Amino acid sequence: MNQSLNEKIRCFLLDIEGTTTPIDFVHKTLFPFAKAKIGEFVHQNFDEIQTEIAQLKAEYRKDFTDQIYGRDFREDSPESVANYLKFLIEVDRKSTPLKSLQGKIWQAGYESGELRSEMFADVPQAFERWKEQGKTIAIYSSGSVLAQKLIFKYSNFGDLSGFISDYFDTNIGHKRETESYVKIAAALNQPPKRVAFFSDITAELDAARFAGMQTSLVARKGNDSIKNKSDYEIIYDFNEV
Ligand SMILES: [Mg+2]
Repeated sequence: MNQSLNEKIRCFLLDIEGTTTPIDFVHKTLFPFAKAKIGEFVHQNFDEIQTEIAQLKAEYRKDFTDQIYGRDFREDSPESVANYLKFLIEVDRKSTPLKSLQGKIWQAGYESGELRSEMFADVPQAFERWKEQGKTIAIYSSGSVLAQKLIFKYSNFGDLSGFISDYFDTNIGHKRETESYVKIAAALNQPPKRVAFFSDITAELDAARFAGMQTSLVARKGNDSIKNKSDYEIIYDFNEV
């Protein structure tokens, strides 16, 4: 990003997976961790997760009626609840109670020191530089806001959460929809052109650009090949920004 453009930017809006953090961390560490722990977590926290269990029961009823899940679901049985959760993980269901429980499992894992998130090495340096320049830093990821906060709090470079002013997840809208970026700019109190969005996914950049944001394509080790996508400015490292 050239200097005159940088000076016009007031807020850096960042994706996480493939942008600040290796995709592998999410797929090879975070999700397997929650999957491995979910049975034990349900048993040990059964009384505290009654809200999620009630939501799961509603989801189960539909799956049972539609003959997608043939086993029973007993809301008084940790075993039965855990079995249904494992099924939802197997089929990669975007389930609100499952997401909530995964967030709680990760929180326990981070707090005990069993989990630590991974940031690319240029991320903490960029955060410091942007703060010195008076910029705002915000996050937009499909992971829940709780999961996002944990990722920045418990990183391999220590607690980076102090740099981040706002977190947005799909409650504000989907990442490939322009309307989401319009809403985010409004929430940040900025005209879209003062916001620079960074992501490894061109469909997300298309939506942000249509909303009027500045956009850059992030190319990191482990990301999909970006050949033929050179319509966007490509950033290999935040030191270039
Ligand atoms: Mg991404």
